[in-house]
Amino acid sequence: MGRKHRREKIPAPLRRQIRTEAGFGCVFCGMPIIEYHHIIPHAIVQKHEAENLVALCGNHHNSFHNKLIPEEEVYYRKKNPFNLSQDEIKGNFWLGSYESLKLELGSCTFIDTPKIFVVNDFPLIEIKKDEFGRPLLNVKFFDEKDVLIAEIVDNEWIVKRKTDKVWDLQWSQGELKINSASRKIHLTFVVDAIKNTVELKADLYYKNVLIKMGYRIRELKEC
Ligand SMILES: [Zn+2]
Repeated sequence: MGRKHRREKIPAPLRRQIRTEAGFGCVFCGMPIIEYHHIIPHAIVQKHEAENLVALCGNHHNSFHNKLIPEEEVYYRKKNPFNLSQDEIKGNFWLGSYESLKLELGSCTFIDTPKIFVVNDFPLIEIKKDEFGRPLLNVKFFDEKDVLIAEIVDNEWIVKRKTDKVWDLQWSQGELKINSASRKIHLTFVVDAIKNTVELKADLYYKNVLIKMGYRIRELKEC
């Protein structure tokens, strides 16, 4: 058996630097929930360096690992990230300010409220702000057996078991959807450009109970 490849966590200031240079999203598509990717594998370089790190969404991360994206293209996008190469990005509240964010959950509107959904003092969904005043999403995803299977930490997507292929993360301007259909777990953020609000709906487990949040009573009767 080979020696297990161990590595230190990427330090927070370096994450911040990579997130900022990427325009707070995947450098290819702008998806706000990202993974930090070593262009030359960490197992080879054995260190975390800004020149070798890039923010990618899960889909583009997979495409790179499946050799569908050449390395040169990643270097090019690292210098020319999607979110910074658009003249105007509409409906991407992740690029806006935390202070102006109006988040709707059911009939409640949250403004400047970091803890969005808390059960027994445990925050399942939080939106903090970074030093630029931008929103940072934090979510804990438990399964029906109360095992933490994935989480979002300051917009970073972290799956606890790398072999867990059941997650589906989708992003289009103004709409973020995270699903694990087989587990009935959902989380969606949808921008309402007219009302200038962001609507949150989620089905998340906590202590073996599936909590449906953000639905109107009529919708709950239908599902
Ligand atoms: Zn992407």
